[in-house]
Amino acid sequence: MSNKDAPLSRRGFLGGTAAAVIGGSVGLGAPRQEQARRLVSTVTIPPQSGRGVLLERDQWIKVITPRGVQVSDLFAFVRDAPDEYLCPRTTMTRQRRLYPQIGQPFYSIKRRPLLMLEEDTVGVHDLFYPACDNYMYRDENHPSCRGNLNAVLEEMNFTPGGYAEPHNLFQNSPAIDMDGNLEVRRSLAKPGDYVLLKALDDLLVIATSCSVDRGSINGGECKEIVLEVYS
Ligand SMILES: [Zn+2]
Repeated sequence: MSNKDAPLSRRGFLGGTAAAVIGGSVGLGAPRQEQARRLVSTVTIPPQSGRGVLLERDQWIKVITPRGVQVSDLFAFVRDAPDEYLCPRTTMTRQRRLYPQIGQPFYSIKRRPLLMLEEDTVGVHDLFYPACDNYMYRDENHPSCRGNLNAVLEEMNFTPGGYAEPHNLFQNSPAIDMDGNLEVRRSLAKPGDYVLLKALDDLLVIATSCSVDRGSINGGECKEIVLEVYS
């Protein structure tokens, strides 16, 4: 079960200007009452590809796995400061948790909150693993999250000031014992599961439908991811 270890609340660790949106929430996020959000755009990411969206501060992005069991690597860059971008290790260590928690932000490499996690119907994601790449596949023609990220960056004419790593949404790769061994398991995301994130700055957000078509992580079949932007 994804939330059987619903986290002990770590109190009072919300960085910067980020405010807790859901006070005291732990584990899975039952969608709270709908705010008056307006759907601005919908983007479908075909299997084994990536897409980018421009978010303005205080807009939301919803990352949905319509068929479930599909990882989406999420990257975000500050539009006016290309050398500032999401850093999963900073998120993990500032939250002092392996999994992101509702009401706490995803952080930048400069330790500033960029995206607030407001809703999450899965509860298990990955902050350890790098994006899949051609070195992993040992095949320069195999699609990869790293390649898809680079393609979107080029298409959007955006040059990051460093090497961005992903927040791996819906990825299930827990530490399995007290020795710290990791195991990549089948994603726990069910059809229609999603995360909802609020932009705390003007951002370029790039997400992928992870290209891993072997093993159990994506159920052996790559599937689409849908992005919805709200204001
Ligand atoms: Zn991938």
